[in-house]
Amino acid sequence: MAHVVILGGGFGGLAAAHELRTHHADIEVTLLDRKDHFYMGFAKLWDLGHVRPLADGTRSLANLANRGVRFLQTEITALDPSARIVETSEGTLEADAILVALGAAKSQRHLGFLNSQGAHDLYDGVQLPAIHADLDALTEGRILISILGGPFQCPPAPYEAALLVDERLRERGVRDKVELAVSTPQPMALPVAGADASRYLAGYLGERGIDLLSEKKVTGVDGATRTVGFDDGSTCDYSLLLGVPACAALTLLAEAGLTGESGFIEPDRHSLRTDYERVYAVGDSTHIPTATGALPKAGVFAAGEAVVAAGNIAADLVGSAEARFDGHGFCFLELPGRRVAFVEGNFYAEPKPQVELTDADEDQFLRKQAYETERLDAWLG
Ligand SMILES: Cc1cc2nc3c(=O)[nH]c(=O)nc-3n(C[C@H](O)[C@H](O)[C@H](O)COP(=O)(O)OP(=O)(O)OC[C@H]3O[C@@H](n4cnc5c(N)ncnc54)[C@H](O)[C@@H]3O)c2cc1C
Repeated sequence: MAHVVILGGGFGGLAAAHELRTHHADIEVTLLDRKDHFYMGFAKLWDLGHVRPLADGTRSLANLANRGVRFLQTEITALDPSARIVETSEGTLEADAILVALGAAKSQRHLGFLNSQGAHDLYDGVQLPAIHADLDALTEGRILISILGGPFQCPPAPYEAALLVDERLRERGVRDKVELAVSTPQPMALPVAGADASRYLAGYLGERGIDLLSEKKVTGVDGATRTVGFDDGSTCDYSLLLGVPACAALTLLAEAGLTGESGFIEPDRHSLRTDYERVYAVGDSTHIPTATGALPKAGVFAAGEAVVAAGNIAADLVGSAEARFDGHGFCFLELPGRRVAFVEGNFYAEPKPQVELTDADEDQFLRKQAYETERLDAWLG
């Protein structure tokens, strides 16, 4: 029986495993990950905003066995894409096809910035208890949420975090004594979704008294004085700094010769094939160009690409129909009061991505919850 090895049990890896299992019982699937669990990125923000504890959105990767997928918790140490051989801490695996869905690393420089007094990595679930403790202790000063560089995961998430933190401070009755700001090196809040979506989001930030510091690239953090320095020479004091590190290429993939000039894997944007036969790549491990930049590093794209890559792996191995990724993607933009706006579009459109925004309401918050539940149940139920 043909054997597919999926590297990574995140958004992309799980979506691909589910697709292969649902439509191709004649293909053996093994999924490798160093972690033993999965949760969606936005589950961290729900924890941050006291919407729901992270544990409630977490599922065990051991549940893959219920779906007929072999799961191996292991560290992937090397990859030979020509021979389709994977080296792991548990031994060597050979595959008829490989899907790389290993996500991205984080900029070491930015992690260094966040190793400062009063600073945390907003995107690291492990740091949530420390962030909660600092937020609860804060009665005055300034919270700075800082996008440290690009590309970074889920472009709206830092702003969603700011709005959730704003709500928390209001609930505690200290909002009028705590300033809240988001800094970004970009010229507007959401360039990837366009000027209208950026204005829409900026409107909510303004309404809530959250300062948007655009075109501010962080050059350093001084933990002793709790000061962030920007490339235009200006500085910003903080009581609490919640930083978003840029994504970086995984050394393992560069060493395997899989990465291109962008530093990430650059597969064909419609088939997700790499230059190596029966080796595919999806999600945050990739750089996929669009007319104005690149696809955002987001779970919905990783999952959409993974379904297509799984289809094409099956086409290679058992001769089923080929699949094609059309650049369609969406985002549930979380706004105050358990309301969600929906941003959706064709990111492959020319001369620029065509993105539409549906105004926020409570129904779309329920839709976001259902999106998560349906996938967790299907992938890991
Ligand atoms: C706070 C936050 C909010 C977010 N909100 C959203 C949202 O609302 N919508 C959205 O679409 N996206 C969102 N995202 C982004 C989303 O989480 C990522 O884009 C998505 O997870 C990428 O999927 P992936 O499969 O490429 O990689 P990942 O999901 O990161 O999976 C990669 C897996 O590979 C494993 N791995 C890596 N290296 C090795 C190795 N050497 N050995 C073994 N295992 C390894 C990792 O443990 C990991 O499980 C959010 C992210 C964050 C941080």
